[in-house]
Amino acid sequence: MATQLQLHTTKVRLAFPDKAGHDPAPQGTHVWLDVPTGTIRNFSFQEFVVNAQGTLDPAGANRRATIDRTVTYWSMWTAPGATGLTMPTSFNADELNVVSGFGRPLLAVVNSQTELVLPNTRKVIIREFNMTAHAREPATMNDMRQGAIDFYKDLHIEVDFQKQPKPRGQPNVFVKGGARGGTGTTVHNVTQIRASNPPVVSLPLDQAPFPPPSADKPKTILLIWVHDFLNTGVDGHAHHPGRFLSNAGVTVTSPSIPAAVDFSVIFMNSKGSFKFGLAHEIGHVLWADVGDGKQFYEDTQNQLTERIRTRYRAAINDVFIKHMGLDIPPANVVNHLNTRDHSPLANNLMNSMPANTGTGDQLTFTQVGAFRLAPELRWDPAVVIP
Ligand SMILES: [Zn+2]
Repeated sequence: MATQLQLHTTKVRLAFPDKAGHDPAPQGTHVWLDVPTGTIRNFSFQEFVVNAQGTLDPAGANRRATIDRTVTYWSMWTAPGATGLTMPTSFNADELNVVSGFGRPLLAVVNSQTELVLPNTRKVIIREFNMTAHAREPATMNDMRQGAIDFYKDLHIEVDFQKQPKPRGQPNVFVKGGARGGTGTTVHNVTQIRASNPPVVSLPLDQAPFPPPSADKPKTILLIWVHDFLNTGVDGHAHHPGRFLSNAGVTVTSPSIPAAVDFSVIFMNSKGSFKFGLAHEIGHVLWADVGDGKQFYEDTQNQLTERIRTRYRAAINDVFIKHMGLDIPPANVVNHLNTRDHSPLANNLMNSMPANTGTGDQLTFTQVGAFRLAPELRWDPAVVIP
């Protein structure tokens, strides 16, 4: 690349954890940046310190530094006075390592004023409704909540559970599906749980009390705890509005979401036994539309018109090249997509399901990038990057 980031003139800023905008990073903040090597999977972190001018000095040496200019840097940072991070000897790009004292490396953005904005904690709200017939919550529900809190902590994402009263006039429900869930998944009244062919219940998710308050809506996922999942092979089912497809003119619905809603919805089995089951479903939401994989990008099922496919591809390409900053031509973006909406890697969060015996707590670096760019984590959903 032609241009260089002049670290001695680049002001360093720190995103606010609880509101839009950012502050100058305090003097003495330690910053680790991945120095681009030309190989996008090769993480090579160098340590810098914020000086009295608010710019960066290399740690341990009094010399100026420049690094190749990109739109984003993989980064970690610690507050002044905090003890240093112990780096692994190498980073596995498919299991982007958790570094004690920070978590997984995250994208730092060079903004339009050529300031480096360090990432900070962001919040996603889970608006939850218990529509199970249990007299008392099974312990599995709290295990899954805690699994989500624990998992997303390392991505500097706070999962804020907001329990809602049981909706008046609505039945307790269970979910039924064909093999492996997916398109056949339907919702039914719990009183019919033994019926062989129970009628479908269409929950009015577009009507009160289900939709999030408008001020919180961009940062909220609706969570419906259901009594049980029958014949699905999974513990949960996530529906996201398919923003890139919606923007291209496609209305996204499913048998369990018969009317399109402009927020994401998760159905979760209250009896789910998987610690990271709910984290996995939240992952589907944060990973969308990138996480829908080649199925839509290449339109393997021939569902899209050429015009919609072109717009959809351009939006996915922008995530990887413009917003994640990968130095790749558009034709190579497809190599970073999974075949469908799950990962083929055994230990990946997005392959965390009952049939898989992997640990289910790893993420690839492109997943980490896509998760952190999710609209649900933005203060202004129209602004992709602060
Ligand atoms: Zn899944």
